[in-house]
Amino acid sequence: MLNVVLFGAPGSGKGTQSEKLIDEFGLYHISTGEVLRDHIRRGTELGKIADSYISRGQLIPDDLMIRILDDVLEKEAADKKGVVFDGFPRTIPQAEALKELLLKRGTDLHAVIGLEVPEEELVERMLNRGKQTGRADDNLETIKNRLQVYHNQTHPLREYYTNEGKYLPINGTGSVDEIYDNIANGIEKSTGHKRTVK
Ligand code: AMP
Repeated sequence: MLNVVLFGAPGSGKGTQSEKLIDEFGLYHISTGEVLRDHIRRGTELGKIADSYISRGQLIPDDLMIRILDDVLEKEAADKKGVVFDGFPRTIPQAEALKELLLKRGTDLHAVIGLEVPEEELVERMLNRGKQTGRADDNLETIKNRLQVYHNQTHPLREYYTNEGKYLPINGTGSVDEIYDNIANGIEKSTGHKRTVK
């Protein structure tokens, strides 16, 4: 299996870069943000809880988020060649849980791709996405909260995964294709896995 975390601040391009990555490496995409938005769209109980955090730019509590991820892995990813985790983990306890969840399935995390983008560009990208897609949390006030939360709770994972020897920094500015090439080459070099499609 090949399990990769796409890591980066909100607006750093995790969703965009996931698309080609799953195609070319034959992986399964799990975006925890998408899983939660799907619950909100369907009006489930979980969706109501998730909405109360997402609309304020806050993180869903770890224990709930970890249970959701365990469930998705069980139901959707069991027979896959590997997973691209997009938006998970976002805290140290989530990173510890991911290790456990993969271990109990007899596998491991192979690489953490860190998309690094300056803050001004992140804000601009999210405001544009908000205009284009109507995504509710892409408004200036919530964006500011999300960036604050990122710095306080998520950014420490950069050091955590650097210490584990898994962190691969990637310049997240430039064209989508250029960034993708750097990601794909980085994965090939650090994990030995090759793109099945080029
Ligand atoms: P995203 O689509 O990854 O930007 O996530 C949108 C929102 O969903 C975040 O701002 C959080 O409120 C929530 N969310 C997504 N993934 C997680 C996670 N791993 N832990 C906690 N909250 C999350």
